[in-house]
Amino acid sequence: MRKLTIGKSEEVDALGYGTWLIGGNSSPDYSKDDYYVRVLKTAFELGYRLIDTAEYYGGGHTEELVGRALKDFDRKEFFIISKVWPTHLHYDDTIKAAENSLKRLDIKFIDLYLIHWPNPAIPINETISALEKLVDEGKIRYIGVSNFSVQQLQEAMEATRKYDIVANEVKYSVFDRRVEDELLPFARKNNVRIIAYTPLERGKIYRTKVLEEMAKKYGKTLNQIALNYLISMEAIPIPKAEKREHMIENIGALGWKIEEEDLETIRRGL
Ligand code: NAP
Repeated sequence: MRKLTIGKSEEVDALGYGTWLIGGNSSPDYSKDDYYVRVLKTAFELGYRLIDTAEYYGGGHTEELVGRALKDFDRKEFFIISKVWPTHLHYDDTIKAAENSLKRLDIKFIDLYLIHWPNPAIPINETISALEKLVDEGKIRYIGVSNFSVQQLQEAMEATRKYDIVANEVKYSVFDRRVEDELLPFARKNNVRIIAYTPLERGKIYRTKVLEEMAKKYGKTLNQIALNYLISMEAIPIPKAEKREHMIENIGALGWKIEEEDLETIRRGL
């Protein structure tokens, strides 16, 4: 898989795998555990190694399923992202949330731990101190944020004392390029990797003339064009796919490049 760096030198896959709705929405759905573990193992067998999950997903059950699926694989090969929910951003709560995620995932450390959403009611310094403590204890390797604006990201960066904020996970797709105005340039300048969530607009990358012509030119599907565009912008898309054919199609977004003039055409509007 193509690689992008996170932090100063950590090489991670340029394409990840999202897990929201696997094992429930915000509360657990235990009715299809065997099916979901199979789905996750299929993704891992196909080569997905950068896995995005959160304590919020399935009320924690998604992490349990990821943990179960991981058992048959070499943990060392994976880059596991999880997130702390905004009601858990006081110091002790953040520590506890991370420890609970570790238990559910049944792993010794989380590679990248994100603040899922900002919470203006809780001082960012408090949460960042807890995250830095978690790094010191070896429970997480890198710290990051999600859904943070430029200003919120700047405040989080200023609150760090020992470790950098290495990523901001935000909504980003060919149809929703708002982050390109300010956030993406700011993040690039500060070595903060953009992780692109909902990169396929929940499976609704519409047929437009521009996209169809491009798909034809490159011999790729619309979804592959959509994901390749984000990777070209040096963001890491994390599409969620339960269907094997979707997982395979999305991996086909790698290994080729959209030419600069076509990137520009996408930027002019679809
Ligand atoms: P998404 O990845 O844009 O779309 C997922 C949907 O697209 C699923 O219904 C999937 O179908 C379908 N799909 C996947 N590949 C496809 C393909 N090649 N052709 C047609 N349909 C395809 O949306 P998302 O789940 O909202 O976002 C991805 C991940 O980002 C989440 O799972 C989660 O990990 C993360 N996320 C983070 C935040 C945050 O606040 N940080 C918010 C939202 C999401 P099947 O499942 O049936 O295959």
